[in-house]
Amino acid sequence: MKSINEINFSGKKALVRVDFNVPLNDKFEITDFTRLNAAESTIKKILDDGGSPILMSHLGRPKNGPEEKFSLIHLVGHLQKTFGTEVKFAPDCVGDLAAEMASNLEPGQILLLENLRFHSEEKKGDVDFAGKLAKLGDVYVNDAFGTAHRAHASTAVIAQYFKNNKYGGFILDNEIKNAEKVLAGAEKPYTAIMGGAKISDKILIIERLLDHVDNIIIGGGMSYTFFKAMGGSIGNSLVEEDKLDLAKTLMEKAKEKGVSLHLPMDSKVADAFDNDANTKIANNKEIEAGWMGLDIGPEAVNSFSTIIKESKSILWNGPMGVFEMSNFSEGTSKVAQAVVEATENGAFSLIGGGDSAAAVNILGYGEQVSYISTGGGALLEYMEGKELPGIAALK
Ligand code: AMP
Repeated sequence: MKSINEINFSGKKALVRVDFNVPLNDKFEITDFTRLNAAESTIKKILDDGGSPILMSHLGRPKNGPEEKFSLIHLVGHLQKTFGTEVKFAPDCVGDLAAEMASNLEPGQILLLENLRFHSEEKKGDVDFAGKLAKLGDVYVNDAFGTAHRAHASTAVIAQYFKNNKYGGFILDNEIKNAEKVLAGAEKPYTAIMGGAKISDKILIIERLLDHVDNIIIGGGMSYTFFKAMGGSIGNSLVEEDKLDLAKTLMEKAKEKGVSLHLPMDSKVADAFDNDANTKIANNKEIEAGWMGLDIGPEAVNSFSTIIKESKSILWNGPMGVFEMSNFSEGTSKVAQAVVEATENGAFSLIGGGDSAAAVNILGYGEQVSYISTGGGALLEYMEGKELPGIAALK
């Protein structure tokens, strides 16, 4: 993969696949800037070289064509402020108007294209659609790590139209470098913290990590499947009944490989999936019917924090509880504090995107960890050892 350090964009129209899939509130205001901030350096390099960036992205999951809540027009103001230059907006990512706006674009100006997923051809990886996009630029840059695991028109298929003119942006470079730090040669003790709702999404990564880590901490909704597998009562907590055997197998494999697998011993349980529900602390093997674990409990916080603070490499993916509700965010927050403390003491900490990145940012620890990945699924697939189509297409 060629890096954009190898090219001077002077006089060039650089078609950049960015990941501007940012959360918007009901007033269409951006509520998390992680991905936008991460994209700045690549766009800045193109502008500083005297080129013109043509930015394309998806936003959300539109079903049948254009929908205002998924329009990228809501990002124009922020981009204008960030780069101090004119940002033009093409109301359709392909077609005559987009082509005309691209061809009239001057060095130092930015053109933002409307949401790629307003066309169903984007996700289908349609070759003709990719060809129409390709006509807009002289050079193709992929800087959307968050979608690099998808073989969509703009993330992979389009690269065939730029045989010698395709590059990986700074985010792609950075993501790979940081992921490698917790794959090969991670300093020990190495602890992986896995959380979130479902174990089924994370089986492959957990299996792969067993070859690298010293500790695996499992929290969040997925931990109850392990307790049920061990014969515990988990009340109404989240469970994947068809993954009970798998949970047992993972525990056995960890033992065989000498990896310590840590489960939360207690939970903050609630009598409803509601921030205002009644709560109490319960042992995870004895949760009563009608109660569900929505956060890890104080004993789990203590034991997890001790392990984390003694670690030299940390990978974290998935919250410890339903952190979106303030009464169930403490476990995630305390784990974040332990990760921050370990980082201050010299550990390398990588936060795998998606919900864990949002949690770390919302809780205000974004600046105090080593690296927050912009890709959730993409990072996990990269770490599972899969070749990501978006990266493969650049080679
Ligand atoms: P994932 O996408 O698998 O990383 O899961 C993230 C989601 O898991 C978040 O929206 C959390 O609210 C949710 N979650 C974490 N812990 C629990 C739990 N104990 N019960 C239900 N949902 C949970």
